[in-house]
Amino acid sequence: MTDLTNPASNPTLALTMALIERASVTPEDAGCQQLMAARLAKVGFNIEMMPFADTLNMWARHGQGKPLFCFAGHTDVVPSGPVDAWHTPPFQPTIIGDTLFGRGAADMKGSLAAMVVATEQFLAQEPSPAFNLAYLITSDEEGPFINGTVKVIETLEARQEKIRWCLVGEPSSHLQVGDVIKNGRRGSLTGHLTVKGIQGHVAYPHLADNPIHKAAPALAALATEIWDNGNAYFPATSFQIANIQGGTGASNVIPGELNVMFNFRYSTEVDAEQLQSRVYALLDKFGLHYQLEWTLNGLPFLTEQGDLVDSTVAAIEKVRGITPRLETTGGTSDGRFIAPTGAQVIELGPCNATIHKVNECVAIADLSQLTEVYLQLLINLQQRLTA
Ligand SMILES: [Zn+2]
Repeated sequence: MTDLTNPASNPTLALTMALIERASVTPEDAGCQQLMAARLAKVGFNIEMMPFADTLNMWARHGQGKPLFCFAGHTDVVPSGPVDAWHTPPFQPTIIGDTLFGRGAADMKGSLAAMVVATEQFLAQEPSPAFNLAYLITSDEEGPFINGTVKVIETLEARQEKIRWCLVGEPSSHLQVGDVIKNGRRGSLTGHLTVKGIQGHVAYPHLADNPIHKAAPALAALATEIWDNGNAYFPATSFQIANIQGGTGASNVIPGELNVMFNFRYSTEVDAEQLQSRVYALLDKFGLHYQLEWTLNGLPFLTEQGDLVDSTVAAIEKVRGITPRLETTGGTSDGRFIAPTGAQVIELGPCNATIHKVNECVAIADLSQLTEVYLQLLINLQQRLTA
């Protein structure tokens, strides 16, 4: 029996370790994409580097003229945080028992390694598949996401290069590999609200207009409003106040304005325009004078049952013996930029318990299982297309 904890006999582990060694804190790539490109070129991929400003991106494609399956992901990682808090140096991959420690082990260098190894194995047994394969890899997913996936997608759209199926390797799993597939994500809409009043002395309130008193019942109404009830795939839309600030610091001054920042995580039952007009109506009902500016951070997307979801569920059932849950919870991901092109998009990666934390780690067995699931997904797609 092969020793999975020995990098010499576990190619996914070896590649994950080589990627972790490259300290690619956003927006650095630190040579990760070159390493992947070299492996992919060897099995017939055409590599296009697409740098935009400070961000390195890679588009790698195998074959032309057939429906396109794409692995997507990011080589950048979040900063290590206080190095002293780590048991092992964050950018020195370290095996302790059956676990690999290092920044990016779970988010998402383990996934990248599993994709590459699964691709190599698939092409070894299926040299000219019924579909084309691609990689869309960026180095700015954890950062401001301006020069990464969004720009690559613009480039692909301009030349009408379409992705039909896309698997993003984000760490979707909860307790064990494959227990959760993300088949969509909620939208994210932020409001920057300024409620206007009239500053004055607290002893002479009739000469002032207190924006905090005006806003409080309106904010309470916003916080208790039911925006929708969600649906089979999405939890109910949530409204959260993230920041509230008003006052001069003095106890005898009624402030002139109140600033509130709030955020919606919304389902596909509502859209951003509907949420905005409902907020306006509610603020108007309370007679507030205000300014309101919006930032749309991401549109919601949903990939319903179809080739990709079905093939992935079947792959997990075969390899892992469990049936995954389909969820749309969690933060935004680069899937939001890929889905609007019409692609079916899902996210499937290792367990997310330690991502962005100190002592980030991945179970070595999970790397192998993930590789097998990705490989089985490719085999399932091939069988669907040739059935
Ligand atoms: Zn990630």
